[in-house]
Amino acid sequence: MSEQTAYVDKRIPVYPRSVKGVFRNLKTAILIFAYGVYFILPWLPWNRETGPSQTVLFDIEDRRFYIFDLVVYAQDIFWLAGFLIIGAFLLFFVTGILGRVFCGYFCFQTLWTDVFIFIERLIQGERNARIKLAKSEWSARKYFLKISTWLAWLLVSFWTGLSFTLYWGEAGQLVIDIFTGQAPFPAYATTLFLTLTTLVMAGLAREQVCTYMCPYARFQGAMFDQDTLVVAYDDIRGERSQARTKPTKENLPHDFRVKNEIGDCIDCGYCVQVCPVGIDIRNGLQYQCISCALCIDACNTMMDTIKYPRGLIKYTSEVQQTNKKHNWFKLKNIGYALALIIVSSVLVSAILNRQGSELHVQQIRQPLYITLSDGYIQNRFSIKIFNKQNKPQDYALITSGLEHARIEVKPSGHFTVESGESVTLNARVSVDPELVKDEQEIFQFVLVNRNSKNRIAVDAQIFLPE
Ligand code: SF4
Ligand code: SF4
Repeated sequence: MSEQTAYVDKRIPVYPRSVKGVFRNLKTAILIFAYGVYFILPWLPWNRETGPSQTVLFDIEDRRFYIFDLVVYAQDIFWLAGFLIIGAFLLFFVTGILGRVFCGYFCFQTLWTDVFIFIERLIQGERNARIKLAKSEWSARKYFLKISTWLAWLLVSFWTGLSFTLYWGEAGQLVIDIFTGQAPFPAYATTLFLTLTTLVMAGLAREQVCTYMCPYARFQGAMFDQDTLVVAYDDIRGERSQARTKPTKENLPHDFRVKNEIGDCIDCGYCVQVCPVGIDIRNGLQYQCISCALCIDACNTMMDTIKYPRGLIKYTSEVQQTNKKHNWFKLKNIGYALALIIVSSVLVSAILNRQGSELHVQQIRQPLYITLSDGYIQNRFSIKIFNKQNKPQDYALITSGLEHARIEVKPSGHFTVESGESVTLNARVSVDPELVKDEQEIFQFVLVNRNSKNRIAVDAQIFLPE
C-alpha cells in the first residue's frame, strides 16, 4: 500500500527505558494495589449466614451478586446504571482538571502493559540490550530470550483470564473444575478470550491500543480547557533564544547557559527513551500522550545530575504557562462535582435504605371479575413476595381497606421464604356489590414480616361490572 493510501502508520517498536522518581513510584504503588485487589479478591473468604463464603462472587445462575456484605439481586439492576453514571461523571470531572491521569495511572491497558514491559526488561535487559536483541540475527540466545518473554507474558495473561473467571463461581471449586475438564464451557471460553486479548493488547499492540483503538483517547480532548493539567515541556526555559544544545565542558554550568541564552535542555533524550508511547514531549502536547509523567521523572533525574533546577518537564496548564491565575472552580467542574455528589447520594441512600422484602401485586385480568352464585363479585390477584435478606423470613399477608370483603389467600396463614428466594401466592377477593361505593374500589395488600414486624403495603383495585 502506498504512503498516500496507508490508513495506519507503520508501527515503530517502542523499548521504554526504566526510570526512577516520584511518579514512577506512584504508578508502581497503584499497580501493586490494583493487582492485589484484582487477583486476591476472589480468594478472600467472607462470612455470610447464607450464600457463598467468597468476598466477591457474581452468581449468574442464581441472578445475584455478592459483594462483601451486600447482595445485589436482578431487581437492583438500576444500581448498575448509578455506578456507570458515577463512573462517567468522575471521568469527566477528573479529566477536566487533571487531564489524562486515568490513562496514565489507572487504565487496565497501562497497568498490564507496564507489567509486560517489566517482564521484558527482566528477561531481555535494559532498553539498549532490547533494541540490540531485536536488531540481531536469529540465534539460540535470541530464540531463548524471546520465547521466555512470551511464555512469561502468556502466564500473566492466563492468570489474568483465570482470575476474571473466578469472580463468576466459587473460586476453589472452579479452579479444580477448570483443570480437571469439568468446568462449564463459558468458564473456558472466558478464560481463553481474556488470555488472548491480554496477550495481544499488552504484549503486541501496547501503545497502539491507546492511539488507535481507545475511544476515550479521541474524545478526551473535548473535556480539556486552558486550566486542565497536562504534562508539558517548558520550551521557553528549555530552548531560550539559542535553542537546546548538547552539553560541553564549557556550556554545562547553568549560569553560563542562562547568560548566553542557551536552553536548559541538554538534548540527552532521556525523556523520549522512557516514554511508553514513544513520543517526544518537547514537540508539544500530542494526542498519544497518556500523562504518565515518566518523562518528568526522567528529566528531573537529569536536572538533578547536572545540578539544574527541576521542572523543565512538569504538570502544568495553558494558563500557568502564560503566568495567569489557575481557575479550579470553573462552572463545568462545579457542575460535574454536583452531579457526582447527587448521583452518589441517591445511590448510597438506595443501597442503605433497601427494603429487605419486596411485594408485587398483579391483577389477573382474564377474566377481570366473576360473579359468584351468592351475588358476590370476585377479583383474583397474583402476589409475589421476595426475601432479599440473608436469613429466611416468616411472613403473613393481610388486606386493609376492604373490611366487608371475603379474602382467600393460598397458601393461607403465615409462610416462610428462604433467603434470596421468592414465593407466588394467589388471592381471591370477593365483595358484595351493594356495599361497594365505587366501581373500582381501592384497597391494600399488606405484607407483614413476622420476624422484624416491618410492613409493606401495595395498593390494589376491586373491579365491578359497570
Ligand atoms: S510524553 Fe511523557 S507523559 Fe506523555 S506518555 Fe510520554 S512519558 Fe508519559
Ligand atoms: S530529559 Fe530533559 S534535558 Fe534531557 S532531552 Fe528531555 S527535556 Fe531535555
